[in-house]
Amino acid sequence: MRVIIVGAGPTGITLGAALARRRHRVVAFDRDPGPSSDGSWRRRGVMQFEQAHGFRQQVHDLLGAEWPEAWQVWRDLGAELVVAVPSVGGAPGALGVRSRRSTYERALRLAAAEVDGLTLATGRVDGLIEEAGQVIGVIVDGQPHHADLVIDAGGRLSRLAPPSQLGGDTGMAYVSRTFRRRRGAPPGPIVSPLAWSGQFHGYDGYVFPHEHGHISVVLIRPTADIGFGVLRHLDAFEAACRAIPALAEWTDPELTTPTSGVLAGGGLMNLYRPQSGRPGLVAVGDAVATTAPTAGRGLAMASMQIGALLGCLDAGADPSTIARPFGMWCDTWMRPWVEDHLAFDAESVRRWKGYDIDLAQPLTSAAIAAAAQADPSIGPLIAPFHAMAALPVSLADAEHLARAVYETGWCPPTADGPTRDELVALAARAHVRSPMAVAARPRHPGNRPRTPAAHQQ
Ligand SMILES: Cc1cc2nc3c(=O)[nH]c(=O)nc-3n(C[C@H](O)[C@H](O)[C@H](O)COP(=O)(O)OP(=O)(O)OC[C@H]3O[C@@H](n4cnc5c(N)ncnc54)[C@H](O)[C@@H]3O)c2cc1C
Repeated sequence: MRVIIVGAGPTGITLGAALARRRHRVVAFDRDPGPSSDGSWRRRGVMQFEQAHGFRQQVHDLLGAEWPEAWQVWRDLGAELVVAVPSVGGAPGALGVRSRRSTYERALRLAAAEVDGLTLATGRVDGLIEEAGQVIGVIVDGQPHHADLVIDAGGRLSRLAPPSQLGGDTGMAYVSRTFRRRRGAPPGPIVSPLAWSGQFHGYDGYVFPHEHGHISVVLIRPTADIGFGVLRHLDAFEAACRAIPALAEWTDPELTTPTSGVLAGGGLMNLYRPQSGRPGLVAVGDAVATTAPTAGRGLAMASMQIGALLGCLDAGADPSTIARPFGMWCDTWMRPWVEDHLAFDAESVRRWKGYDIDLAQPLTSAAIAAAAQADPSIGPLIAPFHAMAALPVSLADAEHLARAVYETGWCPPTADGPTRDELVALAARAHVRSPMAVAARPRHPGNRPRTPAAHQQ
């Protein structure tokens, strides 16, 4: 079968390799030519390329099952497998992988070069070619290319995908920076195998350890709160890191060196898009289900989709109509994760505004998970959900226990650090005072330096 894949991001490249290994002839078109000869790689249109990623076990497990060579290359580039401590007599299982997203994508590209039957081609897919109601190819930079199956792996901004059925902008924005620990420097605090995270009054913070001592520090905040905009400035971001004890530990200049400037990322979305219903075309990955990075699920969901789509093909589904059974699978197994995100991301934005958990509504998964800190019997009930081995509906048994916790007046603890107002004020002060900011300010008699108080108004 001739297959054209639109997009050679993680979904397109991994699915392309798995199909080529099944002896299909696959061409994956991407507008991005890949790393240049000097090794640099500017991923236009894929802002998450430089942003923090945690890789769940599904990403590792899919590569292990479908494309072990790619896992080996990723490992050779430094990917660190995090395994669970085995129970007595049990085998250690993968919990996830520590790596920069850029390292992961480089590994996939390197491994793809060795896959017979998979061609990565540079070009922008502008549209589809249809004949008698069937998609039979794509237009790439004005030229027609024909295939028996077209796969849309164009990501969250895919132009081929039908309009979203569910979701939209989360109202959350990212601001982050990358660092590298000096040789021998000890790691900072951690709360899960893949990250440190903390909830504060008005925002959240994360640290992701990656491979070879690389780390990403992330602050997530409400997009609508323009006061946080100052964090885009290096001096302001540095001041914020110094003021939050866990981040200060991770970014101590004695122990770490910055490896980037401040990386801002807005437009975080939760979207669910159904299949288009056009024979000959199937969408997969973020083009179907996009989730905000708040739970690090995107690549696990893409991996699960790749496994399911391959399963449909292996079971003999007609490629031209495969979108139907695969779409039904996505409705059952992907849509609930997007719904889950819509509920708990909205609750985070409410929490940042100072509202308590609304006990008149069903509890969100995040609220149920947080209550496990007060009632340890909740932990085992939610473990399969946490590992994405069970859908959010599996939390039903834990909800009444969590509700009982909140009815006592218990609230999830906030991490040690400044409130929103304190953080914005200290970041603004640091920016106003910095030599960089002073040099950049226009100098004319009517433009007096602003005081910190005036800046905040
Ligand atoms: C800030 C941020 C942080 C995240 N953190 C995590 C995390 O910690 N863990 C996690 O699992 N997930 C995370 N995600 C989600 C994860 O990045 C996505 O799930 C993942 O990128 C989806 O891969 P994809 O291949 O489907 O899409 P993409 O990575 O978006 O790739 C799509 C590809 O298609 C190409 N393309 C698009 N349109 C065309 C066209 N018309 N012609 C040619 N090429 C085209 C693009 O150039 C791109 O290469 C995060 C996302 C964001 C935004």
